[in-house]
Amino acid sequence: MRLAIIGAGFTGTQTALELLRRLPPGSHILLHERSGVFGPGLAYSTAHADHLLNVRAANMSAFEDDPSHFLRWLWAGDLPGPAVPPSGHAFMPRGLYGRYLAETLAAAEAQVAPAVTVERSARPVIGVDEAPDGVDLKFADGDRCRVDLVVVATGNNPPQWPFPEGLAAVDPFRLIGDPWDDGELGRIGPDDDVVILGTGLTAVDVVTLLGRRGHRGRITALSRRGLLPSVHEQTRPWKPFLVPGEDPRPLAYLRRVRDEVRKAALEGIGWRSVIDALRPATQDLWRALPLAERQRFLRHLRPWWEVHRHRMAPQVAEGIFALRDAGQFAVKAGRIRGWAAAPEGLAISLGPKGGGAAERLTAAFAVNCTGVSVDYRRISAPLVRHLLDRGLARPDSLGLGFDVDENFGLIAADGTASRRLFALGPPCKGALWEITAVPDIRKQSRAFALRLFPDRDRGTPS
Ligand SMILES: Cc1cc2nc3c(=O)[nH]c(=O)nc-3n(C[C@H](O)[C@H](O)[C@H](O)COP(=O)(O)OP(=O)(O)OC[C@H]3O[C@@H](n4cnc5c(N)ncnc54)[C@H](O)[C@@H]3O)c2cc1C
Repeated sequence: MRLAIIGAGFTGTQTALELLRRLPPGSHILLHERSGVFGPGLAYSTAHADHLLNVRAANMSAFEDDPSHFLRWLWAGDLPGPAVPPSGHAFMPRGLYGRYLAETLAAAEAQVAPAVTVERSARPVIGVDEAPDGVDLKFADGDRCRVDLVVVATGNNPPQWPFPEGLAAVDPFRLIGDPWDDGELGRIGPDDDVVILGTGLTAVDVVTLLGRRGHRGRITALSRRGLLPSVHEQTRPWKPFLVPGEDPRPLAYLRRVRDEVRKAALEGIGWRSVIDALRPATQDLWRALPLAERQRFLRHLRPWWEVHRHRMAPQVAEGIFALRDAGQFAVKAGRIRGWAAAPEGLAISLGPKGGGAAERLTAAFAVNCTGVSVDYRRISAPLVRHLLDRGLARPDSLGLGFDVDENFGLIAADGTASRRLFALGPPCKGALWEITAVPDIRKQSRAFALRLFPDRDRGTPS
């Protein structure tokens, strides 16, 4: 069997790892990663030691069925980063995690070769053609390559500018569109005032980086509600309490969560343990919601869910709060109503939350931290365009990714699910909602590999 995986960030790498455990001898995996770096992807490529994982080390194993795999790797090596206690309650540098993924992939490849082989390629895949007996991968030079199955693991897309209409008036030098690109962020001088669009974990990354660089200018982060992520604390196990299918309405879920938080408080247990207890059931709870209820959740509860569920490491929060207490960093709630050029660089008109007269904010630079772009109708990546324009895939009905069936087969424009083209990881957000973090993705790729090859398991690489 010949399989192609497009993208070797966490999702593509982890899918390769699960497949290497199970593929029959003689199989071949083609792993295409356009950056030429296999393992880290966007999230774990950062070279900054202050960019920490936002999930405890204890929950970051690459393997769902070998939960201490990452901890064993950490304990075995003489590695940079904080000491890791036996509980695994530590937030390690993200770059170190990228190294773990790259080394684990290399170890797994060595363990199964030559029975199963992996061919790595830095050639971006720009399209695929599905035939009755296989799929052709297409490359920019016109070359093609036939495989049996394709996994699209192209992950996170850079953010789109919100309210882009007035943007044309602003000097593009002042607009930093990719918050993960050190080169772009390097344009910001130490005394420049900076406006950050977004107040989530990406904004936290940028503020952390500026703080570490000794930035002296004013930093203002904007979002509709002005909510920063909550901070991680030690949690305790809390029993699952929501049953998928029982009163499938976000408001009913919310009521149960609140009741449970009250109960936990009586036992001296914080809300974080209750939220974490939802983790194993979140995808099923989402699937149980009818479309209108999913839309209601996105309209009313999404920001609250995000800040409670996706939290920042305590060390990171300390740095952010120190900048805020020093008056250098502030968060504002409101909606962007317009952009203009200004002597300082740029001006943003911000309509405050709850209405009222717009406020004018000026800055030397704006950084777009509104989060990864999920509306595939607006994504220009050649492979995405090819899949949509040829009708091989369609956006899901919530505009959160590709439409996939229960096997993660891409659903074509005519409504048929492919048995050769699959999508895993963040592009499945519409179907699964929580498919961003490592614990959710590894569960999905394991399920995918098990469905294809239920009978064989070579075990996890040591
Ligand atoms: C900044 C950041 C920090 C995060 N931190 C955490 C964390 O601490 N803990 C956690 O659990 N989750 C975290 N996440 C969530 C993260 O989404 C997942 O953990 C995971 O990394 C997603 O991996 P991915 O492979 O799907 O996507 P990506 O990392 O985006 O990888 C996709 C890869 O596909 C490649 N690619 C795309 N198109 C093509 C093509 N046509 N041909 C060839 N290659 C292609 C890209 O070059 C890229 O390397 C973070 C996310 C971000 C953005």
